[in-house]
Amino acid sequence: RDPIILVRGLRVNFYTYAGVVKAIDGVSFCIERGETYCLVGETGCGKSVTSRALTRLIKPPGRIEGGEIIYYPEPGKPVNIMELGEEELQRIRGREIAYVFQDPGAALDPLYTVGYQVSETMLVHGIIRRIKDGFQRAVELLRKTLITDPEKRVRSYPHELSGGMKQRSVISISLSTKPKLLVADEPTTALDTTVQAEIMDLLRRLKKEEGLTLLLITHNMGLVAEMCDRVAVMYAGQIVEEAPVDEIFKNPLHPYTRALLRAIPDPSRSVEKLESIPGTVPNLVNPPPGCRFHPRCPEAMPVCTRRPPVLRMGDRHYVACWLYAGKGRSGGGGA
Ligand code: SF4
Ligand code: MG
Repeated sequence: RDPIILVRGLRVNFYTYAGVVKAIDGVSFCIERGETYCLVGETGCGKSVTSRALTRLIKPPGRIEGGEIIYYPEPGKPVNIMELGEEELQRIRGREIAYVFQDPGAALDPLYTVGYQVSETMLVHGIIRRIKDGFQRAVELLRKTLITDPEKRVRSYPHELSGGMKQRSVISISLSTKPKLLVADEPTTALDTTVQAEIMDLLRRLKKEEGLTLLLITHNMGLVAEMCDRVAVMYAGQIVEEAPVDEIFKNPLHPYTRALLRAIPDPSRSVEKLESIPGTVPNLVNPPPGCRFHPRCPEAMPVCTRRPPVLRMGDRHYVACWLYAGKGRSGGGGA
């Protein structure tokens, strides 16, 4: 085992007028160096918040209230993210752990050329000393992300680029610092279908070429099947099941995972809104007691309304559900 990041018992709250939203409540997982790890679930389940918390990228009214986040830039060299000062954190965030978000338009500055923005990122992280030193590297990066005519495009402004080219530019910026972990949060959701497939192919290839570890956040089970090595299913701020990707599709254990998979006989369909599972995603100000899925679960038992199930482990397969109580060891989940 060679973890790149280890999360234990993560809790994130949002302090709103409506009350305290317990957005992430006891999430634990471990991403192995070199793998593609996937967080999947409906809107509002906490996938994005979890991925942002990895570098403490949570803005008020959100706050990380507990848990451990250990980053291993190299095997056996743990860095405790929770204890870092803002300056040390800045060095890791964007440089070693880079993000690609859903909307490339929002990630790019409309006032500067793509080449400038690649260079600026390298300048900020101390990779180059003057902006103009970055342009040659920017051309190479644009070529690597398959932007046609990179010598010309390096001087383009964001408004001159298509959605797909914008996202390729964002990926170029992310790669400019040679990150170890790339977090891609719904990177193709804002793009049309053909472009989506191209960007996913690109990410897969770059992951190999650049030796990246990839954390992919998605609501698309088709992408999970195509891209991922291991997958964690999130529900209402918790991980309810984690397994290698084949295992999740062949042998889903949690009733929510099963419902997810039944809901999408066509894997290209989105699970962003699952009308096919009766009931609604719970309110996280007052989450249901016991298992948070119990109001929607066809197999709920009396114990489910009283006590939260703990994540239980089989061999690399973890599930938080009372149906499996006593089968396998009880444990911290994923780690
Ligand atoms: Fe359903 Fe109970 Fe399992 Fe929750 S713990 S998923 S309510 S069977
Ligand atoms: Mg999201």
